[in-house]
Amino acid sequence: MSNITGLELSSRKIDYLKYLFGKEGSIRTTQISKQLQVDPSTATKTLQELNAEGYVDHIPYRGVKLTDIGREYAEFSIRRHRILSLMLSHYGIKGEDACREVSRFESKVSKEAIDRICKSMGHPTTSICGLISHKECENHSDNKC
Ligand SMILES: [Zn+2]
Ligand SMILES: [Zn+2]
Repeated sequence: MSNITGLELSSRKIDYLKYLFGKEGSIRTTQISKQLQVDPSTATKTLQELNAEGYVDHIPYRGVKLTDIGREYAEFSIRRHRILSLMLSHYGIKGEDACREVSRFESKVSKEAIDRICKSMGHPTTSICGLISHKECENHSDNKC
């Protein structure tokens, strides 16, 4: 586990990592731009930045894929989204509404805060948007996130 703070990437870049997460092989830029609804030149530029920052590997003429750190960051981002959605749902903001609210601020919440919230909620396994994996939070310094 590397020492990510959770504050390294903008929500825009996190969308790229989340999209690439779990996909086999390399994915073409055109496919990514279509899925994320950005123009190909914007997608190319963002992917070049993510490549320089070490989150994706760019394979000439083939496309991009996540590096180990990129995969770890994507996993963390998914857990962060789901933990925060679950938290809001406990305060009366349900379903799609919770998802949408969380999307506005999730990239500003640190990994340390998420790990603490995760722990105080007893490492929940299900959120409104899917299952929550604790693979990386269980490796945290005090052993249980
Ligand atoms: Zn959601
Ligand atoms: Zn946890």
